[in-house]
Amino acid sequence: MNDSALHWFRRDLRLADNKALSAALQESARVHCVFVFDTDILGKLTRRADRRVEFILHCVAELADDLAGLGGNLIVLHGRAVEEIPRLARRLQAGSVYTNRDYEPAAIARDQEVERALNADGMAFYRCKDQVVFEQDELVSQEGRAYTVFAAYRNAWLKRLPQADLEPAPLETARGRFARWDDGTPPRPLPRLQDLGFETTNLLELGIKPGTTGADQTLGDFLPRMHAYREARDYPAVRGVSYLSVHLRFGTVSVRRLVNEALRDGSEGARTWLAELIWRDFYFSILYLFPHVVGHAFRRDLEALPFTNREDRFDAWREGHTGYPLVDAAMRQLNRTGYMHNRLRMLTASFLVKHLQVDWRWGERYFAEQLNDYDLAANNGGWQWSASTGNDAQPWFRIFNPVLQSKRFDAEGRFIRRYVPELAGCSDKLVHEPWKMSPAEQAAARVLIGEHYPAPVVDHAQARQAALRMFQGIRPAAGSA
Ligand SMILES: Cc1cc2nc3c(=O)[nH]c(=O)nc-3n(C[C@H](O)[C@H](O)[C@H](O)COP(=O)(O)OP(=O)(O)OC[C@H]3O[C@@H](n4cnc5c(N)ncnc54)[C@H](O)[C@@H]3O)c2cc1C
Repeated sequence: MNDSALHWFRRDLRLADNKALSAALQESARVHCVFVFDTDILGKLTRRADRRVEFILHCVAELADDLAGLGGNLIVLHGRAVEEIPRLARRLQAGSVYTNRDYEPAAIARDQEVERALNADGMAFYRCKDQVVFEQDELVSQEGRAYTVFAAYRNAWLKRLPQADLEPAPLETARGRFARWDDGTPPRPLPRLQDLGFETTNLLELGIKPGTTGADQTLGDFLPRMHAYREARDYPAVRGVSYLSVHLRFGTVSVRRLVNEALRDGSEGARTWLAELIWRDFYFSILYLFPHVVGHAFRRDLEALPFTNREDRFDAWREGHTGYPLVDAAMRQLNRTGYMHNRLRMLTASFLVKHLQVDWRWGERYFAEQLNDYDLAANNGGWQWSASTGNDAQPWFRIFNPVLQSKRFDAEGRFIRRYVPELAGCSDKLVHEPWKMSPAEQAAARVLIGEHYPAPVVDHAQARQAALRMFQGIRPAAGSA
């Protein structure tokens, strides 16, 4: 057993069922814990009021309390992780550093740099599988090829599940196992948002509960609804989904716990929900095995679509002023809360790429800035699915009709009215296509189209034809539709 080790928290902001932390405790007499507010990451954020930084700060405060309760402390640093981690490990004379594996190309490069620095000083760097059930190339076909079609991946995933390690990683809590770092200076308070260069957001007003206590509550709210997931998940106006994505993103709940809950429930709804967790693993593996998806189409034949990239259209989409009520409600939900329902992510992404002919990478970047649950693998996968450039994507000639989607998934316009109050007075029928209201109907609904609420930025039928021409123009590879 080593004398002392350092656990580096990143996307695993919890003590319970944390693989790397558990391994550190099993293999070392004393474990120090650290979280770094990494300036290489924070420096790239474009908004000073960023809910994710606030979310993390709350999680870090909770972790610090939890560790204090176990006799340890959380060392919180603000700087470049590639420099801070080796420096701290040296000062602590840690024999090894433990962390949970990250699959994003930039994170892999960062970890390699940290590893080189630690090894140069004779320290080991251990990365554990924690974020996913199957990682990297653990699931490949019999011929050793990556699965790029979801159904095949899901079948292989389910077949291998009995061999997966779903046991919660034990947490050794005996007094003295968590080390307390005392560098001789008075204990430093946790940084405030302002110290990190950020501002307070509306995170807590929105009712988003950070930390493991927030994850427990969110899961507790979902468990009794899980059996109804299959029927309820497509309707943004009802509480049909779990809202756990931000917790999965920051690791305030373990994916193993969620898989176990779905297996325990066993209902049709639980099986459907489990498939969503499998999508998550799938996109992690696609990102890892095909890193060219960052910035490029998975399908190379669809790399150079001739988008028109009109800034005015992109702005209308971003601001929720396209004149298509469900698209606008979704974008306003995103802007106001940092969350968007999955059905609406598909609709708004498709609308931007196919109706407005704006490069999917613009939309991907905008979602990356806004989403509380932003995750490179899932976001890139979702955008490439919607743009038809991805592996196993929506066929290029399938183009969501925003009015039909609206009538089908928000029939009474409840979701629309919540985020587009200008349309509150419209009838259930015309709230989906308010430009069809006569002047008298507009007056009765107290909304003048073109004045209080925009006329459609494009005509659906014409935009559809233009999108088909855009794809046909570059002749997508045969059989790839
Ligand atoms: C264009 C686009 C962009 C997206 N960007 C992201 C993103 O940045 N981060 C993100 O976590 N999800 C993303 N998704 C996937 C999905 O929309 C969200 O995971 C989901 O809406 C989160 O809500 P929930 O937790 O209530 O999901 P639930 O329906 O309760 O699903 C449970 C969990 O399964 C996972 N999941 C569900 N659907 C998917 C999916 N299609 N792909 C991968 N994982 C999935 C998520 O971790 C989710 O929390 C995107 C989808 C699209 C179409």
